[in-house]
Amino acid sequence: MTSVLSSLLDDVLRRNAGEPEFHQAAREVFGSLEPVIAAHPRYAEAAVLERLTEPERQLIFRVPWTDDSGRVRVNRGFRVEFNSALGPYKGGLRFHPSVTLGTVKFLGFEQIFKNALTGLPIGGGKGGSDFDPKGKSDAEVMRFCQSFMTELYRHLGEHTDVPAGDIGVGGREIGYLFGQYKRITNRYESGVLTGKGVGWGGSLVRTEATGYGAVFFAQRMLATRGRDFDGARVLVSGSGNVAIYAIEKVHQFGGTVVACSDSSGVVYDPEGIDLELLRQIKEVERGRLSAYAERRPSADYRAGGDIWALASETRIDVAIPCATQNELDAAAAATLAAGGVAAVVEGANMPCTPEAVAVLVQSGILFAPGKAANAGGVATSALEMQQNASRDAWTFEYAEQRLAEIMNSIHDSCAATAEEYGAPGDYVLGANIAGFVRVADAMLALGVI
Ligand code: GLU
Repeated sequence: MTSVLSSLLDDVLRRNAGEPEFHQAAREVFGSLEPVIAAHPRYAEAAVLERLTEPERQLIFRVPWTDDSGRVRVNRGFRVEFNSALGPYKGGLRFHPSVTLGTVKFLGFEQIFKNALTGLPIGGGKGGSDFDPKGKSDAEVMRFCQSFMTELYRHLGEHTDVPAGDIGVGGREIGYLFGQYKRITNRYESGVLTGKGVGWGGSLVRTEATGYGAVFFAQRMLATRGRDFDGARVLVSGSGNVAIYAIEKVHQFGGTVVACSDSSGVVYDPEGIDLELLRQIKEVERGRLSAYAERRPSADYRAGGDIWALASETRIDVAIPCATQNELDAAAAATLAAGGVAAVVEGANMPCTPEAVAVLVQSGILFAPGKAANAGGVATSALEMQQNASRDAWTFEYAEQRLAEIMNSIHDSCAATAEEYGAPGDYVLGANIAGFVRVADAMLALGVI
């Protein structure tokens, strides 16, 4: 990194003390930008990086609510409106006890580049709360969502800021949030939230989109080495929305997902994960993965186990981390490399540590960063906004075809950009530069704001 870039990065780290995930995300992007900053001095002259790393607006608010026993509880709500050069702030809400301002800033920063890569008119933002929906009743989740929206609604709008789901926020939460927005504003403003139910303004394929999209991206990337999913053995970490639909698409492409996981353990099922059973446990019963092995004779449950370690005992061709940030470290990457894995594709946001990425790349493994590979979710959110704006509803086939085209085009633009900047096959560099250029050019055109 040049001294100008590294002193800029130092400044970002200093001004955002105590936010390690945001530091990690900023370091990763800065690590790719040297050639583009050197080739185009206009970006430095207009202080594009200084502006890009400073959110346009950061909201932190109190969320009081009453639990089923009548006790008043207090959580913290966040929305970071990071960059709106390309369109309204767009990005999900995460409800998880680990959520801090730093988490939301890392996710929001990644979202700017991810959304730019889709080629669609969406800026970058992210939000959430340290509220834990696990173990809460529907009524408690509803009261929390209503209180959260009672503060946030004034900052939202279909042309201003459009949240969606992320970890801990699915169709149920989006329903309660949308209901409260509608009640307070007295407007049926469908385009203000995405991930809505298909019966009331949602888009077909939005639920499946992040997982499907990651597999479309992986398929296109594998093809550059003359490979595909047919007959491939695959690890998919996690067992939430992204994991479930990644598994489904791998199976449709002729591969076999032999393991998935949750925060308590790993299920190894050499016959292939039974998706119907997994969905029943996770989506209907909202239960733990251990219940899967109890009902499936071919499966083996490993409490506290590490899913990536399976690459040392059975053949694995592709790994798709779909759980959460920093879930795959250098030791896991070394296990995958020693096991002969061909590709690692990030379905979650930043699931591989920087050290893991270095090991994968040095081992010649194809590596797809989340901001490119998991962009299918937010891309389909933008398609949902399009349908809302035109008061239309597309078929499943049409929406899925649009998703596949978008993922192929993201893949191709990352690959072409990496090639143009002298690093063929480097999808990290390709994604960062392609995303950066689109946002930075819009920022230059809009003046110093
Ligand atoms: N939370 C998802 C992401 O990380 C989706 C965001 C959206 O649909 O706005 O991209």
